Amino acid sequence: MEYIKENLKSVKERISRAEEKSGRQNGSVTLIAVSKTYPPELINEAIENGVTDIGENRVQELMEKYDKVKSVRWHLIGHLQKNKVKYIIDKIALIHSVDSLALAEEINKQAKKIGKIQEILLEVNVSGEKSKFGLTPKDCLAAAEEISKLENVRIRGLMTVAPNTDDEELLRSVFSGLKQISLDIKENLADTIDMSILSMGMTNDFPIAIECGATMVRVGTGIFGKRSALERGY
Ligand SMILES: *Cc1c(COP(=O)(O)O)cnc(C)c1O
Repeated sequence: MEYIKENLKSVKERISRAEEKSGRQNGSVTLIAVSKTYPPELINEAIENGVTDIGENRVQELMEKYDKVKSVRWHLIGHLQKNKVKYIIDKIALIHSVDSLALAEEINKQAKKIGKIQEILLEVNVSGEKSKFGLTPKDCLAAAEEISKLENVRIRGLMTVAPNTDDEELLRSVFSGLKQISLDIKENLADTIDMSILSMGMTNDFPIAIECGATMVRVGTGIFGKRSALERGY
C-alpha cells in the first residue's frame, strides 16, 4: 500500500510546516493515526511506516483489532460509555473523551483494580453543537478540579472536535477557545493539574489547529484514504 507511506509523508510535512509557521519546535506535535473502519493490515502498514499512536473511537471495534495490530500506543477518541470502561482499561494509553465526573470515577475504579494510573483528556464541546459530546466550557474548571482528586486518573489536558466546516475563522475561534480554557484551568489549578496536551485538529483542519496550539492531531482519512460512507455508519 504505497499510498499510506506517501500520505504519511505528506501529513508529516504539513505538520512540520505548521509547527514552523507558528514558531513551535519541530516534533512538538504528536500525530495520532485514526484507524476507525480500516482493517488491521492497513494499521500495521502505517505502524511499519513510523506511526506510533493509533486512535479508535469505538470500544467494540478496538477490541476486534487489538490483538491483530502490532505494538503501538492506543488512544480512545470517541464517546465512552461507563459500562465499557472495564474492557479497555488495560489497553489504552490516553482516553481523550472524558466528559463527565461519573465517567472519570468509573475509569478511576477500573484503573485501581489493575493498578494503573490512567491518563485522560477532558473533552470540551467548544462549538456548542448539539450533536457533539463534551463538557461545556463553563463546566470545565469545576470538573477538572473534582477529577484531579481521583487517585488512579491523571488529567493531561483537553480535547475538542471542531465543526465540520471550511470556515477558517470559525475553526480558529474553536481551537483558540480550547487553548484559552486550558490556560484558565492552569491559572486556577496550577499545582494540581497538568494541561500540557491539547488534542485538536483532524484531516481537514489540523494545520490551523497546530497554529492555535494543538499538541496532538488526530488524522484519519488524510492517512488511510476516504472511509466508505456505508461502512459502520460513518
Ligand atoms: C474520525 C475522527 C477523527 C479523524 O477524522 P478524519 O477527518 O478522518 O481525519 C478525529 N477525531 C475523532 C474524534 C474522530 O472520530
